[in-house]
Amino acid sequence: MVQDVSFNVRNNNGDTVQVGAWRFEGEGHGPKVHLQAGVHADEIAGMLVLHLLMQRLQVAQAQGRLKGSVTVVPQANPLGIGQFRQGRILGRYHDATGQNFNRGFDQSAAMETPSTVVQQWQQKLVQLAAPADVMLDLHTDDEALPYLYVHRSFWPVAANWRRR
Ligand SMILES: [Zn+2]
Repeated sequence: MVQDVSFNVRNNNGDTVQVGAWRFEGEGHGPKVHLQAGVHADEIAGMLVLHLLMQRLQVAQAQGRLKGSVTVVPQANPLGIGQFRQGRILGRYHDATGQNFNRGFDQSAAMETPSTVVQQWQQKLVQLAAPADVMLDLHTDDEALPYLYVHRSFWPVAANWRRR
């Protein structure tokens, strides 16, 4: 069964907006994985990938092939998606503060009382991801080389990943 782990945040107007999140629990012991996309709300490819992956996860779970758990947040940033102007999503920076949505997660997570809606949103997203053994945050661009940031704790094992 898929567990709804969605959470609410406030937007610039103080209205409640939901961040949809779902957890697929496997039957065995395996790693806890957290997948999210759309932190920069205008990066559509990762969001689509996770929506499609959720269908596959549901099948794998029903067939008992899923071990561990996978938490999926396919559209992580309702604040950015709400910044729709002149026919496009202006998702990279928060309109009201100019903050890049993908910067300062560590500071927001450490705050006792986050003061901006972006900090509050970041803190809740980090809290959802924190128990995971593996966390992937999908980003895309028009022109970019494929790359992967990894935590130093994965080194030197991660050095082999580039050769695959
Ligand atoms: Zn991005």
